[in-house]
Amino acid sequence: MKFTQLFTRTTREISADETAINAQYLIRGGFVYKNSAGVYSFLPLGWRVAQKIMAIVRQEMNKIGGQELFMPALVEKKFLEPTGRWNLDVGFFAKSMNEKEASFTLGWTHEEVLMAIASRYVSSYKDLPFSAYQIQTKFRNEARAKSGLLRGREFMMKDLYSFHASEADLMDFYERAKEAYLKIFSRVGLKAFYTLAAGGDFTANNTHEFQVVTPIGEDTIYICGGCEYAENKEISNLKAGDACPKCQGVVREEKSVEVGNIFPLGTKYSVPLGLEFVNQDGVKNPVVMGSYGIGISRLMATIVEVMNDPKGILWPESVAPFKVHLISLEQPERVEKIYQRLVEDGVEVLYDNRDDKTAGEKFADADLIGCPIRLVVSRKIAEDEIEIRRRSESAARVIHLNDLAASL
Ligand code: ATP
Ligand code: MG
Repeated sequence: MKFTQLFTRTTREISADETAINAQYLIRGGFVYKNSAGVYSFLPLGWRVAQKIMAIVRQEMNKIGGQELFMPALVEKKFLEPTGRWNLDVGFFAKSMNEKEASFTLGWTHEEVLMAIASRYVSSYKDLPFSAYQIQTKFRNEARAKSGLLRGREFMMKDLYSFHASEADLMDFYERAKEAYLKIFSRVGLKAFYTLAAGGDFTANNTHEFQVVTPIGEDTIYICGGCEYAENKEISNLKAGDACPKCQGVVREEKSVEVGNIFPLGTKYSVPLGLEFVNQDGVKNPVVMGSYGIGISRLMATIVEVMNDPKGILWPESVAPFKVHLISLEQPERVEKIYQRLVEDGVEVLYDNRDDKTAGEKFADADLIGCPIRLVVSRKIAEDEIEIRRRSESAARVIHLNDLAASL
């Protein structure tokens, strides 16, 4: 894509109330636009990143058998009342002009909604197990919508739900979901700690969170330096310096961001909602369930929080908006050829073809936007050469154009 085709631009200054690094760089780079507190638009550059993250999440969810679907954001009262989750203050309620009271909430989780669908198809043990997921906008009335995309009032979530005939089958799937989650986080360049946590509004059981260590995190976790066993402070009796309960390694305290959470729900919702199946002996039993969430937009923000420097973002190649940021300082005909060649080879290139910007401005924008590889064509080097620099390295080198494909 050519820079001049982008309708967005980079900006130097943003409002002073955006203190989080992710908000600053994502807004300045033209990845997102802040519409309201905790409400963001994804602009073309940001949407490319979000789509890459979603593609990775989809791949890993499909691999464990998750079937993708898409459910309504408008969730009627009748679904949430039986589980006691209608009147929670997390909701944004929706009502028509002629109604006195809201009869809908904007979906903040979808256990009940999918269970209503499942009840149409599940009657026997033969209908189990299965799992289904969606990637959808969620709405939560967050008291403090700050820290940029880390905590939205409207945000993107992948939510998967699994349905089983037994606790053992649930826990078997839970392990596979855990592995899939760890794979997702490592594919987007993050180290996530599998952390024992509380159940919140979802379950009285313990759950597991996936926590990424970074100073902006609102959570505090204890991590063992030996085996990486981790607990959320909310449920932990540990403190820094303690011996790990699993391996006797030393425990440290860290600030962290919860990028995912998995819940062994058991029969907590299937009992009140009457979601049952007939087992092999002809006896009715409640369906055993799990639910599994990843904050897609929070994940994007976490990547920026972890991978940045004073000049901008350092996207890992797996989610970068473009792999290559090509800059022409002069001789646009020559650069145009290289651009066309790269596009034909299937390389994702952002080509800064602007003729009204200085070299310094173009370099600054390339660093801010953070594509993994910067290519520069200038008169300083020979006709058949090009300058290449990794965003993560300070030194550039000059290579022969014939070696470019191999270097990418
Ligand atoms: P938190 O404790 O941070 O408020 P939560 O535990 O309430 O989050 P879950 O209900 O577990 O969130 O939601 C599943 C995932 O959705 C979370 O692990 C997180 O990645 C993401 N998420 C939750 N709330 C938000 C939000 N307000 N903005 C962005 N992502 C969110
Ligand atoms: Mg959670």
